[in-house]
Amino acid sequence: MQAATLLRDIFGFDGFRPGQEEIVDAVVAGRNTLAIMPTGGGKSLCFQLPALVRPGVTVVISPLIALMRDQVRGLQAAGVAAGALTSGNTEEETEAVWAQLAAGTLKLLYMAPERLASFGTQRMLREANVTLIAVDEAHCVSQWGHDFRPDYLRIGELRGMLDVPLAAFTATADAETQVEIVEKLFGGVSPATFLRGFDRPNIHLAFAVKDNPRTQILGFAAARKGQSGIVYCGTRAKTETLSAALGQAGHSACHYHGGMDAQARRDVERRFQQEDGLIVTATVAFGMGIDKPDIRWVAHADLPKSIEGYYQEIGRAGRDGEPAETMTLYGPDDIRYRRTQIDEGLAPPERRDADHGRLNALLGLAEALTCRRVNLLRYFGEDPQPCGNCDLCDTPAETFDATQAVRMALSAALRTDEWFGAGHLIDIVMGADTPKIRERGHDALPTYGVGREWNKRQWQAIFRQMMGRDLFRPDPERHGALRMTEAARPILRGEAVVILRRDTVTNAKFSPAVRAMVSEEDAPLLSALKAKRRALAEAAGGPAYIIFNDKTLIEMAEAKPATLDQMARIGGVGAKKLESYGRAFLEVIAGAVDQVHPARMKLAGRTEGAVYDRLLAAQADLARGPDGHDKPMSCSAAQLAKVAQLRQADADAVARVIGERHAERFGDAFLAVLTDG
Ligand code: ADP
Ligand code: ZN
Repeated sequence: MQAATLLRDIFGFDGFRPGQEEIVDAVVAGRNTLAIMPTGGGKSLCFQLPALVRPGVTVVISPLIALMRDQVRGLQAAGVAAGALTSGNTEEETEAVWAQLAAGTLKLLYMAPERLASFGTQRMLREANVTLIAVDEAHCVSQWGHDFRPDYLRIGELRGMLDVPLAAFTATADAETQVEIVEKLFGGVSPATFLRGFDRPNIHLAFAVKDNPRTQILGFAAARKGQSGIVYCGTRAKTETLSAALGQAGHSACHYHGGMDAQARRDVERRFQQEDGLIVTATVAFGMGIDKPDIRWVAHADLPKSIEGYYQEIGRAGRDGEPAETMTLYGPDDIRYRRTQIDEGLAPPERRDADHGRLNALLGLAEALTCRRVNLLRYFGEDPQPCGNCDLCDTPAETFDATQAVRMALSAALRTDEWFGAGHLIDIVMGADTPKIRERGHDALPTYGVGREWNKRQWQAIFRQMMGRDLFRPDPERHGALRMTEAARPILRGEAVVILRRDTVTNAKFSPAVRAMVSEEDAPLLSALKAKRRALAEAAGGPAYIIFNDKTLIEMAEAKPATLDQMARIGGVGAKKLESYGRAFLEVIAGAVDQVHPARMKLAGRTEGAVYDRLLAAQADLARGPDGHDKPMSCSAAQLAKVAQLRQADADAVARVIGERHAERFGDAFLAVLTDG
């Protein structure tokens, strides 16, 4: 069958995501393929779909059992013959896989790389009609990477033995890793390579300076109540206290860290996958095994380790392509902590320099003056335009020429032989009268009191930004005393200008306003649909989104399909899912639609009541636009009632009631109803 047909019928998608189609074409054509796509870009489809188009079975090598099981479950729910051979299998599961292999009906066989070591597996694969090898997380073959899996090196042998095309997928783009993948997986012969950009435009980026961080996190979560989110914390203890605080604030929350036993961690992972709106406070250990597409937000209670870590962690949000939000908190203590961690680590010196560099990149992002996304993507080698979806695009930074202040700070440090931290240096430039100043005679320094035009908070912001730009670095051998770096020299010599943000603390009021997922009118129906989904998921013992994802439910709540045919046109409803769940969800919708809205009840027995019903019918005809291809849209019952009661029926009056955007779609039709009598 055609890829495009399968895309709709099996996966229920209207079209390809950017980049997917070329990759699918190459893999279907049997070319060796390397696809580099950001997390959430939709890599799995790029081998799942070709596996269905091609004859025989596709072997999928994947490093994580949890992910494999999830994908297999998702495929089976869509009616695809898929199975996995993992250590977590029950006997029946394994037998079913062997039986399908023997019958030649299996289309996708997932397995962990460790399996490849066994002769039994090799013989089985030789005898099965394998026509394609797909390798997920292909960077695990790189010996220099963090995720190295020695058994990935066996994949090259397997390709040689079976002599079939191989498709490798990864989100890691650096050149060294690519070279290693080509060498180890493709025997040094370059495959067709696809590099899809690193932008995740649906993720809103924001940073905020710590200022009572617990309140900041609670505020952020409160504005997103009922949505699934992750709060990354720097320490295990913090995951526990924060999840308790979130629980007290009425959220459903739990914590996760490497110190918990394996069973407890698995429980959290399973709850997170299955439940709607759970918040997990976690150390970085959480996430590798998480493949939840509808995580709506990610917050960092502490600064991540590096820009790569940041990108990976925020990238767990919004894999379904729907809007998702992030907020990263940071402060001078984070900068000191991360620097010390690098300096006191065991890495060789070149590696330490590189780590400082990666931290600098992240701090540069935190202290950015212009579009965060431009700064982030530049680091990954792209050259984008300002995004319109970050805090700095929302509210441009207020900046000032800080050259003079920076020179004062540097000079205070140099004149005290770089033996002091920010607190004391600020006391010097502000001319404070403290015992430490008097004892050391620092009130006699020429820099003493030269910076009185800025207050303490402003000076703290200046020092923080100087550390963020790596002009000052804390020296662990001097108990964190600030030392000037080479980068600061041109400023001291008067050869460079420094522009800094005017305080980021006083301006750090991030808006709690969150886009509602549906109109107030449709919200009860959406909750009813979610409840139905939860019940079905619980009955099946799987995660909720495998049934339908949020986007699909939202579309249902808005378009309110009344028949199976209309239901089939909703994005995400493939043939198999229509068959399995269509009726159940139609019943929920019918139940909600049948209830007469109170706004309509009030008009009962009056002519306006009949007008209301005709307006409703006119609206239903246009719910997806005149051609039926547009985004679903509807007016609230209260608005319809108001329109029905309009005394003066003209376009302006209608638009005033239902708003310009709705008037564009419904205005003419409503006027026709009104003037008809
Ligand atoms: P990756 O492995 O690249 O991180 P996934 O393969 O898990 O990403 O896909 C991320 C999400 O995007 C999944 O929920 C998937 O169902 C969805 N998705 C993939 N392709 C499409 C598409 N063409 N249209 C709509 N949704 C898609
Ligand atoms: Zn931006």
